[in-house]
Amino acid sequence: MDIHEYQAKELLARYGVPVPRGGLSYSPEQASYRATEIGGSSWVVKAQVHSGGRGEAGGVKVCHSDHEVADYANELFGKRLRTKQAPAGKCVYRVYVEEATDIKRELYFGIVLDRATERITVVASAEGGMEIEELAESNPDALIKASIEPAVGFLEFQARELAFSLGLAPSQIAKASQLFRAAYRAFRDLDAAMLEINPLAVNAEGELVALDAKMSFDDNALFRRPAISELRDRSQEDPRESHAADRGLAYVGLDGDIGCMINGAGLAMATLDMIKLAGGDPANFLDIGGGASPERVFKAFRAVLADSNVKVVLVNIFAGINRCDWVAKGIVEAFSQIDVELPVVVRLAGTHVEEGQRILAESGLPIVTADTLAEAAEKAVAAARVGERATAAARG
Ligand code: GDP
Ligand code: MN
Repeated sequence: MDIHEYQAKELLARYGVPVPRGGLSYSPEQASYRATEIGGSSWVVKAQVHSGGRGEAGGVKVCHSDHEVADYANELFGKRLRTKQAPAGKCVYRVYVEEATDIKRELYFGIVLDRATERITVVASAEGGMEIEELAESNPDALIKASIEPAVGFLEFQARELAFSLGLAPSQIAKASQLFRAAYRAFRDLDAAMLEINPLAVNAEGELVALDAKMSFDDNALFRRPAISELRDRSQEDPRESHAADRGLAYVGLDGDIGCMINGAGLAMATLDMIKLAGGDPANFLDIGGGASPERVFKAFRAVLADSNVKVVLVNIFAGINRCDWVAKGIVEAFSQIDVELPVVVRLAGTHVEEGQRILAESGLPIVTADTLAEAAEKAVAAARVGERATAAARG
């Protein structure tokens, strides 16, 4: 689960990470009021959306009067901000106003979970400001990494070493090391999955300040972090994914037009590959899980159909713990309750397959069946092409 910059800053500040003074606003009037409240003569006005790259997309601006703050905030509210990370855009409903910082240097500081070493890894760079992915490509040597032993945590010497490698002055080392370890404690204590401070700025006074902050949290640990769950902002999520998540389905939205309903993550990945190989594009990844009841199958079917880009539905079940007859019942139920106007391709194999096929055949529904994964993928892609032509013809 992702949170907003202002929320991440609030959490980090509680752990002792220095952040600029700021205030959140929900209207242009509130934004300018926040600016006067903060005081000073220049402010940074920042669109709060769950995406990086806001600066480049026109979502961050330094303003020099409360009128300018209000005008710019007015421009932002309700706007769909299209960033490199979120090309479809995310709507701005909250705007953060901060005292402007006089930046002398921009550093990068991040904490991630390294699956290869099974450790939390701290990543830093003297070249902050630009995106870490770009930096990793253009200048991988500029990345400094420290792997953290879970039993002992982020040790003082590691933090100091990192601070020295960033080229900080001797007088800044102690504070930098405190900041790094505070960020690490926040990451650990709150079950974060990712933390990024970019830029971590050195201001005119030589102090380190977190100018930007991003945090995301481990969904599997949210049950024990109610205070973090409170920070969820649904307006920033893919509605297809929130709809599915609320129903306990493992769903990831994609850009294609073939809706997929599959059991098991491995088979789901293989099916997406087969669709690609057959020349098509999946609209989603959806794992209905093991032992799925007809009700669950029905819910999954509805989640797939909720995506208006979907032109054909592909059901691929290799039943072990699952039962093909339950899956078939779920599909028939879906047809009886929803207006399914799209072609549906079904491939069933495994437990109770004969019963499952009989239910589908006797339902009299226009279901296309397939015996193998390859055949199912080809039929789905062919059906999607027909759908495309029909849409094109309808448009004239
Ligand atoms: P992002 O583009 O979504 O990562 O948003 P950031 O919060 O990182 O802001 C983008 C850029 O705006 C930063 O890299 C800074 O260069 C600039 N910026 C942010 N805050 C300030 C500030 O207080 N003063 C100045 N001069 N620039 C700022
Ligand atoms: Mn940033």
